[in-house]
Amino acid sequence: MAKECKVLVTGGAGYIGSHVVLALQERGYSVVILDNLSYGHRDLVESVLRVPLIVGDMQDRSLLQQLFTDQAPGAVMHFAAFTYVGESVQDPAKYYRNNVIGSLNLLDAAYTAGVEHFVFSSTCATYGLPQTLPIPEEHSQVPINPYGAGKLMVERAMLDYAAAYGLETVIFRYFNAAGADPAGRLGEDHNPETHLIPLVLLSALGKLPGVKIFGEDYPTPDGTCIRDYIHVADLAAAHILGLEYLLGGGKSTAFNLGNGQGFSVRQVIDTAAQVSGRIIPTSPAPRRPGDPPILVGSSAKAQSVLGWVPQYPQLEQILEHAWAWHQKRHG
Ligand code: UDP
Repeated sequence: MAKECKVLVTGGAGYIGSHVVLALQERGYSVVILDNLSYGHRDLVESVLRVPLIVGDMQDRSLLQQLFTDQAPGAVMHFAAFTYVGESVQDPAKYYRNNVIGSLNLLDAAYTAGVEHFVFSSTCATYGLPQTLPIPEEHSQVPINPYGAGKLMVERAMLDYAAAYGLETVIFRYFNAAGADPAGRLGEDHNPETHLIPLVLLSALGKLPGVKIFGEDYPTPDGTCIRDYIHVADLAAAHILGLEYLLGGGKSTAFNLGNGQGFSVRQVIDTAAQVSGRIIPTSPAPRRPGDPPILVGSSAKAQSVLGWVPQYPQLEQILEHAWAWHQKRHG
């Protein structure tokens, strides 16, 4: 059954955006994707999602204006962004231009077209170094890299736009998105790849020589960093609930999306070895600058306000789905 609200999904050809498009379709929404294909995958849009894809950039204000006139979306979900923390330190201009100016252009086009509902993909990197664990939404936001700083600037702008123009916003701050569509249609495919789980699985497939463990002397039980890995299908489900919260008249607010459980780098590698039945060579490496020992979020607010219940909280399930996808895509 088609829902009346058409949703514009920016970055819908990327990892998280594409899983959300699938979830929107399964809920009966019609979708149009805007993606500049700098990192997104046209083949997955054409073969799996089969929704209109507008190839364009958020720097192009006239394209955005035309898009809102032609498509008349009732809501926007905004995923398009550069996401490499290290690169944001090396080339902050690239990040502020794309992630901040691009987002402001999109917000301008949205509110001038009369759109009232906006879902924004933010990050736990807006918090900076954790002062309490698990991190709640009210935690201080003192980002330590340009990627997190840019996302925080957009969060602030959105709340001001909501107050002034009535463009209500749900901000989702993700912890470590991981896993793949449980039915195997979509998954993670970054180039270059920097994230732990895909690097581990590419090593299991023999496509990489092994995994470097960035620091084994952290104050954690096994000495490696602990992160909160959240299944991408659970993220996608939360986005539908966030959209429907706004459509139901909900006011602008922010939600963490995490698993609530932390897993260490060593646990990820050991579980991936079990799931894949392969040997995963590892080697010690220095700590990666800016990595806190433990990052775990509290998602209690998303659970109580949105009624979100993660379906795949186990690391085994996350890795099983990611492994199935990696074998299909890269095997
Ligand atoms: N990590 C690692 N080796 C790698 C890539 C990542 O040991 O080749 C560690 C990294 O230091 C962090 C965890 O794995 O503690 C998750 O890193 P990732 O880049 O996947 O996500 P982030 O937490 O930086 O968003």
